[in-house]
Amino acid sequence: MNKSDKEKALQRITKGIANCIICQENKTGVAVPGEGDADADVVFVGEAPGKQEAKTGRPFIGPAGKLLRTLIADAGLKESDVFITSAVKYLPEHVTPTPEEVGHGRTHLFAQLDVINPKVVVLLGRVAALAVLDRNISVSKEHGTIIEEEGRKYLLAYHPAAPLYSPKVKSELIGDFKKLRSIIRSKV
Ligand code: URA
Repeated sequence: MNKSDKEKALQRITKGIANCIICQENKTGVAVPGEGDADADVVFVGEAPGKQEAKTGRPFIGPAGKLLRTLIADAGLKESDVFITSAVKYLPEHVTPTPEEVGHGRTHLFAQLDVINPKVVVLLGRVAALAVLDRNISVSKEHGTIIEEEGRKYLLAYHPAAPLYSPKVKSELIGDFKKLRSIIRSKV
């Protein structure tokens, strides 16, 4: 698919998310489908939008997003060359999405990944990993790991909100992004 076809296909998915009745159950605010390059080499997947995101429709614009965007720049990537999204596309009622919400969000997320077809997908935290790999991981034990599944490459990383609660995790998250940098540079 060329870039223009990818952009059109992503727009159709975005419309589908905006009109999705299942997505909207027990949620508030506007849809946060994701943003960035339809032809991105790297896709970042978070958990679910927070309050600021649900007001604006843009992913990762709060404090965790600020750190994520700094780390993206430090890894030598431009925000306009990556795609940033989350496993769940609306702000969940109880902030952390339920397994059912993650299971449903996965359908939209996989549709986006199929279109973008990136070289690497960075799974930011436990919920992103659950959505994509369909299993519970221990982020503290498995972060920094590269997983290859069904022709796709995933990097497990801490969620950028984690250092806001536990500052010592920041150096681990920086290490995860160093790994990302080496994956991008190795072009494998
Ligand atoms: N956390 C996420 O996982 N996604 C967002 O869009 C914002 C915060």
